[in-house]
Amino acid sequence: MDESQDAAELRRLVRQIVGDTADPARVREFDDAEKFDEDLYAALAHAGLLQLEADADGTHASAVSEAVVLEELGATATSLAVSLVVQYMGLSLLCSHGTAQQREDVLEPLLAGAGRVAFALTEPDGGTDVARQMRTRATRQDDGSWSLTGTKTWITGASDCRWLIVLARTEDAGASAIDGITMFLVPRDAAGLDVSILDTVAIHSVSTCEVVLDAVVVGPGAVIGEEGRGFRQVIGTLNGERLNAAAVALGIARGAHTEAVRYAGDRQAFGRSIGAFQALQHRLADGAVAIEAARGLIQRAAAATERGDQSASVLTAMAKVAASSAATQATDDGMRLLGGFGLSREGDMQRFFRDARLYTFAPLTDEMIRNFIGEHHLGLPRSY
Ligand SMILES: Cc1cc2nc3c(=O)[nH]c(=O)nc-3n(C[C@H](O)[C@H](O)[C@H](O)COP(=O)(O)OP(=O)(O)OC[C@H]3O[C@@H](n4cnc5c(N)ncnc54)[C@H](O)[C@@H]3O)c2cc1C
Repeated sequence: MDESQDAAELRRLVRQIVGDTADPARVREFDDAEKFDEDLYAALAHAGLLQLEADADGTHASAVSEAVVLEELGATATSLAVSLVVQYMGLSLLCSHGTAQQREDVLEPLLAGAGRVAFALTEPDGGTDVARQMRTRATRQDDGSWSLTGTKTWITGASDCRWLIVLARTEDAGASAIDGITMFLVPRDAAGLDVSILDTVAIHSVSTCEVVLDAVVVGPGAVIGEEGRGFRQVIGTLNGERLNAAAVALGIARGAHTEAVRYAGDRQAFGRSIGAFQALQHRLADGAVAIEAARGLIQRAAAATERGDQSASVLTAMAKVAASSAATQATDDGMRLLGGFGLSREGDMQRFFRDARLYTFAPLTDEMIRNFIGEHHLGLPRSY
């Protein structure tokens, strides 16, 4: 693998932590039980993996390091990787826009692994066009506090987090729908906040939730960053979230592909291993190419992000499409190659196959990412 010594060491560290804390049988058990692996999360936090700074003063997370951690977790404890994508985003928002008080009360404990954060943007009326569809409202009270009412859906880890970052409309949409939205820090135990777990077919080791806010009151100090500019602040971190999603998808692709290659070597038919059949070998070869291509793009995008290059957003978009395609391809091919065993819950392929779906549409759908590439890389007119 073509990476720096630091990245290679970090990769080894994550492998060691996962190996020591969460072997495949445990990951499978937690997935079946739909339980979050608190021990693995604590071990990752203890090793300092929530604080992967790129610069000496610790204001910017390292995109390269986060991608390495997330690829490794994506290939093993995938749900934990999905949770970590949200944590890294929450930490980044608090680091960039949090007040001194928020940094002390919330960011510091989160960095140490004491509690987690959920990020609540999507609403029932739409995820892609969320700014225009946003119904959640925050109204300022006479005493300066805010009252939040609305519904958020598909929110990762909201049931057992300590804090939620909630986007709510504080002014009517003007010329641009993305203005007039504010970011709030809401404690999970706030009165009027109700969380229910949604029944989904994938990412079972972290909850996916509906969050109902019924006149939830938070103080003036709950605003993160600038009032009315919350969505713009979030857009500033979306590049990192997409890149991190790509890294998890790459991990899923790798996990599924490794399992398929192993099975191809073991399983016999017509007196030889099924890996000897060209039809299967070609699929596996294509999978290897897709994985290497996705990793190369992720590494380039991460390096461009750390340098602050203009090219970072387009490279990230390409990396996200490449990685989610690699994941859907590797898991589909893996299921075919495993034949009947693909459907067995004793194997991991079925989980990779299910989990791979997430990053075809989250945090932004692949269609919208392609729209972005069309507009910003190819200079074509906006299609919507
Ligand atoms: C397991 C899970 C975890 C999630 N975690 C979170 C979370 O933690 N926080 C959070 O806020 N959200 C979360 N989400 C929500 C996720 O980000 C949204 O599902 C995603 O943004 C897509 O929105 P949507 O589902 O409403 O799809 P829609 O917006 O309804 O899109 C439906 C289809 O229309 C297509 N489409 C829409 N507009 C265009 C266009 N202009 N051009 C081409 N195609 C278009 C889309 O690509 C898609 O194929 C999660 C979702 C799931 C399932």
